[in-house]
Amino acid sequence: MTLSIDTDLITIDKIQLYPDQQVETNMLRLDKIHSQISGNKWFKLKYYLAQAVLEKRPGLISLGGPWSNHLLAVAAAAREAGLKSIGVIRGEAPVQYSETLQDLCNLGMKLDFVSRSAYKNKTQLTDELNQSYPGFLVVDEGGQGPAGAKGAAEILQYVPDLPAYTHILCAVGTGTMLAGLTLAAEKQQVMGICSLKAKEEQTNTILNMFPALANRFEILTDYHFGGFARYNKELTDFMNQFYRQTGIPTDIVYTAKLSYAWQQLYLDNFFPPGSRILLIHSGGLQGNRSLPPGILTF
Ligand SMILES: *Cc1c(COP(=O)(O)O)cnc(C)c1O
Repeated sequence: MTLSIDTDLITIDKIQLYPDQQVETNMLRLDKIHSQISGNKWFKLKYYLAQAVLEKRPGLISLGGPWSNHLLAVAAAAREAGLKSIGVIRGEAPVQYSETLQDLCNLGMKLDFVSRSAYKNKTQLTDELNQSYPGFLVVDEGGQGPAGAKGAAEILQYVPDLPAYTHILCAVGTGTMLAGLTLAAEKQQVMGICSLKAKEEQTNTILNMFPALANRFEILTDYHFGGFARYNKELTDFMNQFYRQTGIPTDIVYTAKLSYAWQQLYLDNFFPPGSRILLIHSGGLQGNRSLPPGILTF
């Protein structure tokens, strides 16, 4: 499917925070492929979208929060593919829509607000959605599931010298991208930096999908900064410093925590000398609009 995604824009940028940095580190810039269908969300979505087109579905339904990178990608991709889209939003409808919710409306996505308790009961919610919107393809939250992981496995095709890397580090929400990267990795140590507190959940989701991946990846949980979408001044100061030194913007929910974790692991001498690290910039920059103005310098 040819949407306005441009994978030619992907670059591999050097990350050097210290003049005498011992460990060569590069970042795969998936954030550049599209402003709304950003980063890993395109890869996780592509097979769902292809399925909906192939099966001549009227559209896609998916779920997320008011700043969801995933829903924005669904809305924009569906529109370009000529499909309708429904966004099921966690929580009551706010008086003032977030900028992301406004974008969703502008892209023609129909918004359905559901209470947090109803949102939690995914089986019942999915049944109700199937009844309310017959024929629509329900894409699980964050594009999780085997089709999402299959798409994410294609990410590493954009790394020409993949065998030269010893470690691959990515952010973890549902763990779908981590699963895909692990499927496609060669000998590398694949490490996920969890953006939220739960780790067993992601590990179980991955192993339920792909039992053969047991012991092939690890998830680190020391870098969530209090939980999903939580942050403090140390993190935002780090984002500004990282941007000043590398020219690379990171997002507050995922890639800032990933980059911070990499720095800490480096300073703790976690990576043996001669290691070559690949960080995945999975996009999500639009979510920085949730921050009060003046905090970020980019
Ligand atoms: C959604 C998202 C993730 C999390 O991906 P999962 O496959 O759910 O683990 C990571 N980074 C960014 C920027 C995202 O938008």
